[in-house]
Amino acid sequence: KEELNIIQGALELRTKTVEDVLTPLNDCFMLASDALLDFYTMTDIMQSGYTRIPVFENERSNIVDILFVKDLAFVDPDDCTPLKTITRFYKHPLHCVFNDTKLDAMLEQFKKGKSHLAIVQRVNNEGEGDPFYEVMGIVTLEDVIEEIIKSEIVDE
Ligand code: ADP
Repeated sequence: KEELNIIQGALELRTKTVEDVLTPLNDCFMLASDALLDFYTMTDIMQSGYTRIPVFENERSNIVDILFVKDLAFVDPDDCTPLKTITRFYKHPLHCVFNDTKLDAMLEQFKKGKSHLAIVQRVNNEGEGDPFYEVMGIVTLEDVIEEIIKSEIVDE
């Protein structure tokens, strides 16, 4: 039974897209780029439990950086370090993909190992104005693997 599920899940990687499995932007735990790494913010980050945190400028749809929780190893909350100091130092590259990227292609990209989190965007050509790129959410390796094994991975 379990094996059949996995085979089914693996076969569906070719048809399903990142849009089917992403975490919507509204549900993402993110930080504003002008945040200070004070005790309050650091506690928030630790309590969120996430290891990678998108950083946005002005509005949540404008993701400009990724903070890794491990970047905080040498940060003392008493110093109230600006988040920008840390993101400028580490400069983790952003990995963007389009909403129609198939999960097998996404898995290949994740396997190449640059980053195991990608920002999902789509072309919004609704309405009057010019089409523009719109961020829909984030997708991680775990989202793709859950699709293969067809069950939730309960986080530690
Ligand atoms: P982590 O290592 O932070 O636990 P995973 O890559 O294991 O993250 O992903 C676990 C789930 O959490 C996935 O569904 C992923 O889309 C989601 N996720 C990852 N980072 C965030 C975040 N900053 N905010 C909200 N959801 C996130």
